[in-house]
Amino acid sequence: MARVQLLFLVLAAGAALVTIPSIVGGHAAAGWRLGATAAAAALPAYWVVGYRRGEFSLALEPLEAAAVFLVLRAAPGNPVLPLFGLLFRSLYGGFPLAMARYGMWISALLGAHDSRGHVELHADISRALGTGVAPPVMQALRAACQRSEHSERRLASLIQNSTDIVTVVADDLMIRWQADSIRNVLGHDPRQLLGTPILDLAHEQDRPVLSHYFAEARGDPGISRTLTARLRHANGSYRHFDVVAANRLHDPSVTGFVLNMRDMSDAWQLERELRELAAKREHEAMHDPLTGLANRRLLSVRLDRALAVAQAQGGDLTVMLIDLNRFKELNDTLGHAAGDQLLREIRPRLIEVSSGAELVARIGGDEFAVILSPGAGAADAERIAERLRIALEEPFDVQGLTLRVGASVGIAVYPEQADSADTLLQRADIAMYSAKKHGVGHELYDAAYDGNSRQRLALIGELPSAIASGQLVVHYQPKCDLRDGAIVGVEALVRWQHPVHGLLGPDKFVALAENAGVMRPLTHAVLDAALGQCARWRAQGLDLCVAVNLSAPNLLDAGFPLEVKGLLDKWKLPVSSLQLEITETIVSNDRASMIAVLRQLRALGVTMSLDDFGVGSSSLSFLRYLPVQELKIDRSFIVDLDSDDHSAAVVRTIIDLAHNLDMRVVAEGIETDAIRDRLASYGCDEGQGFLLGQPLPAAQLTELIRDPAAKEAAALISATRRSLKDGLPV
Ligand code: C2E
Ligand code: CA
Ligand code: CA
Repeated sequence: MARVQLLFLVLAAGAALVTIPSIVGGHAAAGWRLGATAAAAALPAYWVVGYRRGEFSLALEPLEAAAVFLVLRAAPGNPVLPLFGLLFRSLYGGFPLAMARYGMWISALLGAHDSRGHVELHADISRALGTGVAPPVMQALRAACQRSEHSERRLASLIQNSTDIVTVVADDLMIRWQADSIRNVLGHDPRQLLGTPILDLAHEQDRPVLSHYFAEARGDPGISRTLTARLRHANGSYRHFDVVAANRLHDPSVTGFVLNMRDMSDAWQLERELRELAAKREHEAMHDPLTGLANRRLLSVRLDRALAVAQAQGGDLTVMLIDLNRFKELNDTLGHAAGDQLLREIRPRLIEVSSGAELVARIGGDEFAVILSPGAGAADAERIAERLRIALEEPFDVQGLTLRVGASVGIAVYPEQADSADTLLQRADIAMYSAKKHGVGHELYDAAYDGNSRQRLALIGELPSAIASGQLVVHYQPKCDLRDGAIVGVEALVRWQHPVHGLLGPDKFVALAENAGVMRPLTHAVLDAALGQCARWRAQGLDLCVAVNLSAPNLLDAGFPLEVKGLLDKWKLPVSSLQLEITETIVSNDRASMIAVLRQLRALGVTMSLDDFGVGSSSLSFLRYLPVQELKIDRSFIVDLDSDDHSAAVVRTIIDLAHNLDMRVVAEGIETDAIRDRLASYGCDEGQGFLLGQPLPAAQLTELIRDPAAKEAAALISATRRSLKDGLPV
């Protein structure tokens, strides 16, 4: 627009100035000539001022028309001034003003020429009419210019203020034109970039990509491509850009590559964070949050993969399942925080002993699995199991307590023992249960375990509801005075009246109950039944003390003494009616808190018996710390008492020692008269065994006590023996 205005200004000013010679040399009166010359000079000056200001004063319009009048009066017939003057001036003001101005100027023209006769007048009128096209044409031109200028300005503003950076790069890859927006986006002064190589702006590693594009695009007019590149910020950092590069070398209005670059750093960052998040999720989905070890899902994925490799290469694949012994009780008693800490501390030992293994996973509460490296077999697994046993001998320090945990390890090997991932795990599991049951550190799967272990697994699941619904029954085995044979007490021995498997002995389910963490409800059920029976015997005039077996969770339960007291109160029994049997092995974990519970029980007045004495570590000094009043010599010393001198020596020593410590001595497993007599001669106080009485249901025992010779009782005894044997095979 400004250029168009300037062009017409020049024409109009020229047209005004060229009138001056004809005014000066004209025939008008001197005064008119002087005034007209001044007007002819004033008009261009006025227009220049108006052009520069971009507008003309409305008030001066009549004066301008008057100046035109003066000029035309002194230089009549000049056609260029009205024409070019109007062309220029019609570029200013709106259409109505342009038409009004036209009217004034034509009036000035006709007025100036009124004395020149009607021939001239006709010429003037046709000239005026010809000039009449000026206002509409120039107004249209003005509108068109304004429109294009507006859109150009808008475009320029978009480019300059955009968050995109537009750069034009010449054929020699120097920056030829740079949009201002680079200042906001990358902090560079656009003017300083002009004439510098575009590659300088790019990250060193991204330069080859850009160079390659330019080289390739050079021979391919119009080609446009999207690239990504890091561009240098004025502060020295780099940001990620999407670059749309177009070859406009052939376009005369550009003659360069046009690069449109968008800062994608935020999007890129977001994408990276999302990727990291996805990777983290993936990790979390495949790992155990507590120990950081692989979880069951990852184990399954890796086992499938390892198995595929073993199948393809024809090698062995060995899996180990590791289950901590008595962890559940520990967890229940010391709380989950302690359990968690222990599990976390197991991790490094496990990883160390199984170094080189394909995968170490935690697949359940206290269950771990190891996939051995391809080709490793049972012998390698056994070595790892042995290393683990040694590693676990070092006690754990958990919440100020010194804890020892053992582990049972089951091993299964592909293809010898299983041909799929599922069976491999299942068989390792069965071997692990077998190891646990036999109290050995590890076992290799043996097909003979199979049926047995499946039933065992099923039993674990049924046990809690069986306890709750009263499927547990208690049998009683007499304890007799060895001097006169009188029954002085009974031992309560639990059985499970299973709806499908019949009467199950404790060897079938007590260890399972320990693993399943249900020893507390089990003991409670036995105590309640035994004390209830004791109360009924008392009511019948039979004063029998009942002995109940405890296990570790009871001694780790600070509430247990109160529970005992509550049950004694419930059945209105004196504390002398109850005896509790503990074994050394259950006391070996966390001695301090167990001894505290034992002392409380002792404080209640309950007598305590140390069961199975002689097996295990049997440390005699340990006896001093335990508040026990009775020792039960393990059956294994009694059975061969009359054939094995060593056993006899041990038994005599135990009896003397116990008496020195002021304890009563009970011998378990007396099956023959000879053994009973020998024990009596050694001074053993009491005895228990099939000779003296089988474990029996209360009713049968009552009958046996009242009539020791009763035939029915004998029949029942053998029936009981049979039903126990008919239980699940071990
Ligand atoms: P235990 O405490 O040593 O109980 C004695 C076991 O020896 C009983 O086996 C009994 O039937 C058996 N027995 C008794 N006299 C003889 C004999 O002359 N010869 C032979 N060969 N065996 C004899 P049972 O009833 O199968 O119990 C096994 C174990 O289960 C018990 O050993 C005890 O440790 C545990 N148990 C039983 N009831 C309970 C209970 O209520 N709670 C807990 N925690 N454990 C229990
Ligand atoms: Ca016992
Ligand atoms: Ca025993």
